[in-house]
Amino acid sequence: MMLRCLMIAIIAASSRNHQSSIINHQFPIHHFSAGLLALSDPDSLCSRPPMDTYVIELERLVKRFGGSPAVDLVSLSVRAGEFLTLLGPSGCGKTTLLRMIAGLETPDEGRVLLNGADVTDLPPYKRDVTTVFQQYALFPHLDVKANIAFGLKRRRAPRDEIKRRVSEAIEMVRLEGLDSRMPSELSGGQQQRVALARSIVLKPRSLLLDEPLAALDLKLRKQMQIELKALQRKIGVSFVYVTHDQEEALTMSDRIAVMNAGKIEQIGTAEEIYERPLTEFVARFIGESNLLEAAFESIADQTGLVRVDGSVIPACRADSVAGLAPGSPVRIMVRPEKIRLLTAEGLTGTLESHAYLGETTRWTIRLDGGQEVSALEQNSGDATLARKRIGERVAISWEPDCAVVLRP
Ligand code: ATP
Repeated sequence: MMLRCLMIAIIAASSRNHQSSIINHQFPIHHFSAGLLALSDPDSLCSRPPMDTYVIELERLVKRFGGSPAVDLVSLSVRAGEFLTLLGPSGCGKTTLLRMIAGLETPDEGRVLLNGADVTDLPPYKRDVTTVFQQYALFPHLDVKANIAFGLKRRRAPRDEIKRRVSEAIEMVRLEGLDSRMPSELSGGQQQRVALARSIVLKPRSLLLDEPLAALDLKLRKQMQIELKALQRKIGVSFVYVTHDQEEALTMSDRIAVMNAGKIEQIGTAEEIYERPLTEFVARFIGESNLLEAAFESIADQTGLVRVDGSVIPACRADSVAGLAPGSPVRIMVRPEKIRLLTAEGLTGTLESHAYLGETTRWTIRLDGGQEVSALEQNSGDATLARKRIGERVAISWEPDCAVVLRP
């Protein structure tokens, strides 16, 4: 098996420059780039890294386009078979980071490693990644199967293998029966499936996706999110997925890297990012949050006591305020669905407004000290809030475990 792999690699090495340059020269769509390993036997285990290895490693990457860096000292590792999402607001550097992995941008500083090898100075076509962009860029004069077969043909893969792999890819993206259609005869969702099939047919170890569902309507986007995740699990390829849609990121990702102003603010599972945001930016960007100004008071029974608007309440885990001097300012983050409404004890205030949202009702509470708190309650039969009226006096509390302390 080892010998076979080595021979395939040597053959591929001798032909790859010529073949790849044809692709990139005639069709400036660099997302067809895929390197040496993609040419080896697709079923060969020796082309697959074990799950605990990193297929992409970024070391202190910096990219400037004049002023402040678009990507600022970013380090990140992507595991084999992992679905990692780069999430952040427009202009935070997601696409620039993705393009540096693909080889479409050259970093000013830092290194890009793919499958353990430094590829920082390699052009896109020598890298074992493919990219799917928001614009499908299908060849309008080729039908579905010819679009999907294009990259394999350029690599002069044997005819039987092309046929087998194209029909596998068509089945995977559920385009059976449409293989002879032209792109103009396909819907947006179907065209995006062709673009995906065209990339996965090359069997890269990593697939880079830049907002691939952004052009689809909401319903189709949600359906494609589920399909894409299922497809990723099935083929076991690492996905690096760029989006600014937090729900999309939470639905699909094994891990999410939240970016802000060229930096990664936090990397973690959806649950970690949502339940334990490390910074105010992450707390505000993912989901809704209440941020209460408070002062640390003391620790009692493994719980941090803080003073909010004159009242001392058990508010957070003891470890989150460890080392703070009494009186230190802290900011307490609590999600609206964690707020409980009581009639006595806790922080007191007045119900100021409400919005009926179907499954839930959102209440705004003005605390006596002036701070505003948002509470979400499920509209189940026994909802406490449903019996409340605007202007009524209430008290709020939450489980200390549910709160996060953000230090200014
Ligand atoms: P979006 O979600 O809007 O696509 P993004 O997070 O992907 O945004 P980037 O496209 O990576 O952000 O851009 C990061 C910053 O770098 C932005 O300020 C952008 O204007 C700038 N930038 C990106 N490419 C270039 C370029 N080729 N020349 C000059 N500035 C650029």
